[in-house]
Amino acid sequence: MKDPMPEESVTIPFNLYQRLFSHASTAIGLLNENGYLVDANDLFKRTFDSLTGQDITSLDEPFTEFLHARDAYKFAYHFSRLITGSSHSVSFNTLFRNASGHARWLSIKAWTIPKDERALPHQRGPFVAVLVEDETEEQQEGKRLLEAKEIAERAIETKSQFLANMSHEIRTPIQTIIGMSELLQDTRLDHEQSEYARQIRFSADVLLSLVNDILDYSKIEAGKLALEHIDFSVEEMIEQSVDMISLEAHKKGLEIAIDIPKDAALHIKGDPNRFRQIIINLVKNAVKFTHEGSIIVSCRKTKYHDSEAITITVADTGIGIAPELRPKLFTTFFQGDPSTTRRFGGTGLGLAISRHLVQSMGGEISMVPNEGGGSIFRFIIPIEHSHFEFAPSYPKVQQDDRILIVDDFSETRRILANYLFEQGYSHIEEAASGEEALSKLVTAAAAGRPFSVALIDMIMPKMDGWRLAAEINNDKAINGISLILMVPQGTLGADAKMTLLRWFNAYIVKPVKRRELYDALGTTEVTPLDLDSDGDQIQTNDRPASTGTGVVPQAHRGTISVRREIKTDTHLLIVEDHPVNQQLFCTILEKIGFAYISTASDGIEALEKVQAQPFDIIFMDIQMPRMNGYETTRKLRQRNFTGPIIAVTASALADEREQCIEAGMNDVLIKPYKRSDIEAMCDKWLGESLSIDLQSTEDPGTSSGEIEELEELEEIAEPEDGSIPDRDILNTNQLLDNFFGNTESVQKLLTRFMERTEAELTELPSLIAKEDWETARREAHTIKGSALNLSAQDLGQAAGRLELDIKDLKREDIPAALKALTEAYMRFKERVARLTL
Ligand code: ADP
Repeated sequence: MKDPMPEESVTIPFNLYQRLFSHASTAIGLLNENGYLVDANDLFKRTFDSLTGQDITSLDEPFTEFLHARDAYKFAYHFSRLITGSSHSVSFNTLFRNASGHARWLSIKAWTIPKDERALPHQRGPFVAVLVEDETEEQQEGKRLLEAKEIAERAIETKSQFLANMSHEIRTPIQTIIGMSELLQDTRLDHEQSEYARQIRFSADVLLSLVNDILDYSKIEAGKLALEHIDFSVEEMIEQSVDMISLEAHKKGLEIAIDIPKDAALHIKGDPNRFRQIIINLVKNAVKFTHEGSIIVSCRKTKYHDSEAITITVADTGIGIAPELRPKLFTTFFQGDPSTTRRFGGTGLGLAISRHLVQSMGGEISMVPNEGGGSIFRFIIPIEHSHFEFAPSYPKVQQDDRILIVDDFSETRRILANYLFEQGYSHIEEAASGEEALSKLVTAAAAGRPFSVALIDMIMPKMDGWRLAAEINNDKAINGISLILMVPQGTLGADAKMTLLRWFNAYIVKPVKRRELYDALGTTEVTPLDLDSDGDQIQTNDRPASTGTGVVPQAHRGTISVRREIKTDTHLLIVEDHPVNQQLFCTILEKIGFAYISTASDGIEALEKVQAQPFDIIFMDIQMPRMNGYETTRKLRQRNFTGPIIAVTASALADEREQCIEAGMNDVLIKPYKRSDIEAMCDKWLGESLSIDLQSTEDPGTSSGEIEELEELEEIAEPEDGSIPDRDILNTNQLLDNFFGNTESVQKLLTRFMERTEAELTELPSLIAKEDWETARREAHTIKGSALNLSAQDLGQAAGRLELDIKDLKREDIPAALKALTEAYMRFKERVARLTL
């Protein structure tokens, strides 16, 4: 070894190191302050020799020179800190260049041996002791593992991506199968054919839910399931979830109840859709695996690991789950009973997905057997309160109301009694049957403390709700009471409603919701209806119908000849975000003869308007910013808007219609609509009173001369050069027809439409560039709707194509569709420029 300090050779005795460093069996070397190796133990020499192929004693370069260039700086940095006393020891891994050019991994631990002024000059230091271990094998093993892990992760990612794409692609044709089989079912089919159509529909539904589950699961596996963090009402979400399935439960004759005490009816922050998905999964299973008895969905405020939480419980009285199967319950593709699965469909993914969702929300899910048979599924999630927590306003309580709850299902009685108690009612009694109810009513009346309200379940053994009502109504001693019927969802047909009008004051749908209960009770004002008793089997006194929750809708009253003067009386609300469509709609309605037309630009505004004044009918656009048509309708129904709500949508798919009806709308008006479509819709829902002579409705603003002039502008001949005919670019005849020939309105409308469309067309490329698909799709959708309403076929179709490409995320087709749309707009603009209205 060459001496880097030539004046004297270093003679620190090696036994000193052995005392300083207890690990004599490890390779230790000593560097001077210039980084040169001045001494080393035998092991160090051997290690170094095997690494470099050089004799350590012949080295005349600093130690750093032997390190891999990538790591030399690292060592130099640590070395300078040790020598200057900024740190006393370090340990790190570094790469070492070996003789054959292969890198080796060294683990280095280094200490400072401080300067010793009393020592001989060449022994004073400071020195840095380095302890070296060759870790190449371990490192390589680690690297191999890392690579294997990455490959596995990539494989999962690819598989999940494939599944996600595939599910997405499969969904579109399934939608078509569902839509078409539904349309098919609406046609004239014989018994055998309709059974085939039903089977197709059933299998397509099963397939769709399977694909949705797979899509969800692949998202979870790829770690791509992002949860939203928005405000929602726990109570509303539970009610909505149960509503979606309660019809099925009632069809099976099952009792289904929701139990949410006031303190658990919280507004929280989280992902409402995923929250709903978990509940739907659990309730669907409960219905599927229960053949008789009940399902109770409850929510309680609880604690979870010291934070506030809610526990949702779905308890059923079904087939239960064998103890040996329970541990596998929340694993993928577990299905306890294949025969049931064959009958009802299912993937064995529902519970696994639910578990993932609950865990992603920071909670846990479990199952315990129900006492007396069946299962109880329960999940608990920690909650964060919404900033918008507010106390809902319910109608004032009639303190002295004495209420009798009549239901054979004790849980419903308990839940209702609690709801009433929480609202401040103190005189509450229960009866488990019609007979018991009658005896309680008679006794109370005789004692001079008659009941004022009875909540009566429609379906009870022996004496059902109707029978009980007949008995009460026929007994003068007790018939001064208000009767509210509780009907299972979906069982109340139009006939039943008519009968209800005579025997009951109101009805509420089961499972009973807190708001609907309070509203029905709180409505004390009654509007007597002019009914004549025409040959009813049971002679009853006619009951005045209250105007509160669940009372017969206005439209229905129309059929019992409550006449309405349309021009002065009928209030219409148009909920539509697009000003052009809004104006178009209003103009048509005005021309039909309506005098009271209000507009709202989105769902939230609509809710405010409905709160402020009554409306007889609402026309509801579906796609709107802030709050869409479905959500708005649901909210309106929850707030007891009972009049007809007509969906106005550009989609003619059968499932959209179903969704509209499910959300609480009564009918669907398809865009592009014509004047006659709106007339027909008003006629249908506002009764005969609307059938005014439209021909005689003259528009003072338009002379027949103007119409003729416009008609002349239409090019009759088809262009020979294959270009698009003027009529398809803008059908002025149809447009004027829609506007009753009012050229001024048309002119205004065209100008506004063009201003808006130009703004949208300018915005679209950047929306597409930044992949804001939702906004881009909405803009294309708006252009489509308004263009078609304006009878601009060519432009409407181009916008529709773009909308579809964006919806299906056909990235490669989007630029061409956008270009085609811009060109269509240019044609439209040029056409309008040629029109001199
Ligand atoms: P599936 O789509 O098959 O219903 P799930 O993951 O939702 O898949 O459920 C898995 C299995 O757990 C079901 O096939 C059934 O055997 C069992 N199971 C789930 N819920 C219930 C219940 N409420 N009662 C009895 N068995 C149930």
